[in-house]
Amino acid sequence: MNTNEIPLPKGLVTVNDPPLTARERKFSRLLLFFEDIVKVPLFGCQHCGECVLSSTAFVCSQRCPKQLRNGPCGGTGDDGSCEVYPERTCVWYKIYFRSQLLNRMSLLYKINKVHNWNLQGTSSWLNVFRKRIEAPIWFVPHDEQKVKGLIADDAERED
Ligand code: SF4
Repeated sequence: MNTNEIPLPKGLVTVNDPPLTARERKFSRLLLFFEDIVKVPLFGCQHCGECVLSSTAFVCSQRCPKQLRNGPCGGTGDDGSCEVYPERTCVWYKIYFRSQLLNRMSLLYKINKVHNWNLQGTSSWLNVFRKRIEAPIWFVPHDEQKVKGLIADDAERED
């Protein structure tokens, strides 16, 4: 079977739906110019087109050299250093502590979809508007209770 025919698992990968037309891609580039003005200096945006900033406590997960979107690789040093560039702090180490600070810990339990490289270099704002990707989560009420509930659910599953 041609690999192009293998359907993408819908819940885990952002499907290019509706497909980006050549015209929309041009408009997306224009919008990305304005998006960059805000997001590059503030967050070091890497233009993934599928922004998950709101679930990573506003630390761009795409700055991880392995571009992991769902937690660290397991190679984080005891001092919180990155496995690939030990002189840097692990991006997910930062995400954890920032999430704690901002009371957004429950969002670390959310599974972010695998990056669809078709959307690399496109505007996340446009992709939210076109409903290709989820809208940002601005407020997280009762974060502590939510985390306790999630931990209790995990414990129940293990029993
Ligand atoms: S669009 Fe992607 S690369 Fe840019 S800040 Fe959001 S998560 Fe990071």
